[in-house]
Amino acid sequence: MAKLKEECGVFGIFGNAEASNLTYLGLHALQHRGQESAGIVTSDGVNLHNHRQMGLVSDIFTEDILSRLPGTNAIGHVRYSTTGSSQDKNMQPIVINYFRGALAIAHNGNLTNARTLREELEGDGAIFQSTTDTEVIVHLIAKSKEETLIQRIIESLTRCKGAYSLMFLTPEVMIAARDPYGFRPLVMGKLGDSPVFASETCAFDLIEAEYIREVEPGEIIVVTQNGTESFKPFGEVPHAHCVFEYIYFARPDSFLTGRNVYQVRKALGKQLAIEHPAEADIVVAVPDSGVPAAMGFSEQLGLPLELGLLRSHYVGRTFIEPQQSIRNFGVRLKLNAIREVLNGKRVVIIDDSIVRGTTSRKIVKMIRAAGATEVHMRISSPPTKFSCYYGIDTPLKEELIANSLEIDEIRKYITSDSLGYLSLDGVMKAVDETKRRENGESFCSACFSGRYPVELTDQKKVKHKQLGLFGG
Ligand code: AMP
Repeated sequence: MAKLKEECGVFGIFGNAEASNLTYLGLHALQHRGQESAGIVTSDGVNLHNHRQMGLVSDIFTEDILSRLPGTNAIGHVRYSTTGSSQDKNMQPIVINYFRGALAIAHNGNLTNARTLREELEGDGAIFQSTTDTEVIVHLIAKSKEETLIQRIIESLTRCKGAYSLMFLTPEVMIAARDPYGFRPLVMGKLGDSPVFASETCAFDLIEAEYIREVEPGEIIVVTQNGTESFKPFGEVPHAHCVFEYIYFARPDSFLTGRNVYQVRKALGKQLAIEHPAEADIVVAVPDSGVPAAMGFSEQLGLPLELGLLRSHYVGRTFIEPQQSIRNFGVRLKLNAIREVLNGKRVVIIDDSIVRGTTSRKIVKMIRAAGATEVHMRISSPPTKFSCYYGIDTPLKEELIANSLEIDEIRKYITSDSLGYLSLDGVMKAVDETKRRENGESFCSACFSGRYPVELTDQKKVKHKQLGLFGG
């Protein structure tokens, strides 16, 4: 059974006549967090209106569709998932009509006890429409006997374990919530008098909203016509901000917990150069993810940074390869080597991570084929040995090359002359962990260390009995 894989972005705005248009723009800026489907739900004060579709934000939301999303309040969602869980029925925001009215919810993250809760809810007669963990939250809220919506949300989230950055919308109210560990980002801003929320600050830049602060881990913010109110209903726990957001996932122009992602990535590259320098003529990045680290690496060693690999930005997820005879372009569809840059050179090639090892292997071959005399691979993160269960799409542990092979075996597999990974200490230096710990900030690095800050309730059960509840 493949594991449930999700990466997502959320957005919300309250009290603005352009709510649907601004949400469209916000989602556009968050497109890197999910390219499979997108959705917007608006409220006109009485009803919710929604449009969700598979595809990219700019393809889905035409002027006509946006004009059919009236109201001054809106939430939105972009979603990326793979294999069986990528279906129409799993698109978000989820919208329900239950006896208390309409409710929409958009979720970034993964619950680690969704399967357990779902079994319990189904045992009580609940009928699920999707295979997402988000629907579990909806059922818990609908079932709650608490009097107010905020109490029902608090009661439900108290039962949920794992990672969630959430936006809720009812006809009258918008609510933002972040799990007590703060795994996934969620920031708050202001556009005129309108409160806005987004997974990343880059969404605020596009709509010219002012960044105010992070939604704090464990915080629930309720927005009504009377203003905003903050609740901290959960006990304090050590924060566990995802370090992979800094390494790969977030956009370099975003700020996470007050630090610019590009600058952290550059610092990762500098640290990598200190730990694993290379005798080489040029530094080349794997675009786009390796670019900032390659800049830091080249600056640290005083080696020239060259554009040795070019990326096509037009390879969509639905690209159909033509007939068999010209199939298997593999990585060449996305990347091409520039021979004039690489020929006769000793090359250091920088990427942010190795997952299965297939990309690196193809890139090394491509660079050699372009005439490089030596290829030295440098990775601006530690070996990815463990799966993420908190909302980053990683394959099962068994498929991670670093889970079964030692570094020199990986080097042989990818056929490079040398291979160096940044240490976990090096990563923590680059994110300024020591200084941040003094401010109560700490990180989740489970994909590298195997130390999972929140219990993997469902995973334990899978070991005992193989359930196929989540399909895919
Ligand atoms: P692989 O070929 O499986 O080793 O994939 C490595 C490449 O995937 C690297 O270039 C990374 O930038 C990229 N990558 C790492 N993590 C992810 C992720 N969660 N989703 C998509 N791409 C990723």
